[in-house]
Amino acid sequence: MTKTLLFNTGILTMDAQRRVYDNGAVLIDDDRILNVGPSENLLSTVQSGPDVQLLDFQGRWVLPGLINTHVHLSQQLARGLADDVDLLTWLHDRIWPYESNMTESDSYISSLLCGIELIRSGVTCLAEPGGQHVDGMGQAISKLGLRGILARSTMDMGEGLPPAWQDSTDEALDRQLAIYDQWQGRADGRIQVWLGLRTIFNNSDDLIIRTKQLADDLGVGVHMHVAEVKEEIEFARRTRGASTVTHLENLGVLDKNFLAVHSVWLDQEEIGIFAERDVKVSHCPAAAMRVLGFPKIPEMIAAGVCVTLGTDGAPTNNRMTLVDEMWLTSLIHKGRMLDPTAMPAENVLAMVTCDGARGLLMEDKIGSLEVGKKADLVVVNPNSATMLPIHDPVASMVSSLRADNIESVMVDGNWIMYDRVIKTVDEDDVLASARRHAEALRERAGIKLPQRFNWIQ
Ligand SMILES: [Zn+2]
Repeated sequence: MTKTLLFNTGILTMDAQRRVYDNGAVLIDDDRILNVGPSENLLSTVQSGPDVQLLDFQGRWVLPGLINTHVHLSQQLARGLADDVDLLTWLHDRIWPYESNMTESDSYISSLLCGIELIRSGVTCLAEPGGQHVDGMGQAISKLGLRGILARSTMDMGEGLPPAWQDSTDEALDRQLAIYDQWQGRADGRIQVWLGLRTIFNNSDDLIIRTKQLADDLGVGVHMHVAEVKEEIEFARRTRGASTVTHLENLGVLDKNFLAVHSVWLDQEEIGIFAERDVKVSHCPAAAMRVLGFPKIPEMIAAGVCVTLGTDGAPTNNRMTLVDEMWLTSLIHKGRMLDPTAMPAENVLAMVTCDGARGLLMEDKIGSLEVGKKADLVVVNPNSATMLPIHDPVASMVSSLRADNIESVMVDGNWIMYDRVIKTVDEDDVLASARRHAEALRERAGIKLPQRFNWIQ
């Protein structure tokens, strides 16, 4: 197998010592990192020959592949279907009709489109909270060459649900087990399956407890939207006698393999519970600003909670571009706390790399550029009017980096984007299919958007 040496490049390793190389190199053998260090050292140990590909990345920066811990792949075709509406209109009139009219092939095309946007923003690994057509998502991840964790959306209670989604508790668990059997370890091990819980509105206590037990038995994680909106806390108090996080703690399900998405409405005591149980948080800043509220992310980090970053879905954010979420994260907490030191770039970079990997229980495989880890990495070319000059590389990767600066992306030792060209699918074909599928799906679902402004026919 041919080895690859990337050299003459800046490297942010995000390893435990946070080593940064001004002029560094990464040696890759098959799907693994064989060595990381100064260019000089690695060049002298590697003998140039037909079995070593030398890539001079002068002027670039190499980072670990970015990790998006919460993205709804199958919602990409609903981008723009739910702008400027309240939560109930969003759910009942837009998203449920969209999702309940979706076919397996819609899910596949949606996931391809979303995946391309993710790759273009440097994402190499993602966690999907679960839609209805998991096969389409799995096929897309596999084809795109991404690494991903799948789940199925589970709902065993709740008013107003489309009839096709009303599973019994047993069915909800059985269907997830079937997906686990089908997808776990597929695509050369790049795909894993976790268990999904949608929200406390739609999940019985029995389902929540049995989901956690099953996750422990399988050695996987649980992915759940937690303490998302204020109404959820009121609902939990009314129906379960305690706010969401306190109730989940009472059920005994909060643990190191529990990924709590959004986690906006927590009090200080509940932040302490998250830290004590080593619960992982997926922070989705754009979705939070649109409808949920400010999560206490700096307070969580100070308490020792592992915080990761997600884009959420296209109808809640419109941008599945993780580098935009990094920028937003670096801004919104400073604004809320009136403190420009509240969210330093070091923390934001950790969220999308090493802490992202911890959040997905993959810290031994990905999240940093270290010997023995998977060769998942991103090449940044800062040579643009929007990013230059680079006085402070660590800060620039958060505050000035745009998706356009992501030049190449590698997963498992394979370039899935090189020099801004997606290598695994025909991007133009995907865009054409996405337009067709989105239009047909919207028609089928009967979703009508109110006309804005004064249209002249
Ligand atoms: Zn979500």
